Amino acid sequence: MTDSTERRAALGELCTCGRQAIVVYSNAEFGDVGYCGIEDGQARPVLPCPWCGSTEPHRASWGDPGKCPDYQLRAPSEPGEQNETHTGSETREARPDSYRLR
Ligand SMILES: [Zn+2]
Ligand SMILES: [Zn+2]
Repeated sequence: MTDSTERRAALGELCTCGRQAIVVYSNAEFGDVGYCGIEDGQARPVLPCPWCGSTEPHRASWGDPGKCPDYQLRAPSEPGEQNETHTGSETREARPDSYRLR
């Protein structure tokens, strides 16, 4: 744990369960991850998922509550920033390069 730091979360920075975080842990492996301080928060996440819209809680393959694969410190649906983040990645993945080869 020597390479991880901890700071107070800013407004809008979210825990992996979807709640407002109170602290943010930063480390090289996972980047910035928020934590709300609620012990069983992960077992009862905010639904629908703020990141991917899933109405089912995320689970790890072994059945434990898991964080969203799309988890970011800030949810993508934040007012004002929605449009920019959305269009960029989606149009790219919809068109594989191999289609243009013929
Ligand atoms: Zn939480
Ligand atoms: Zn999700």
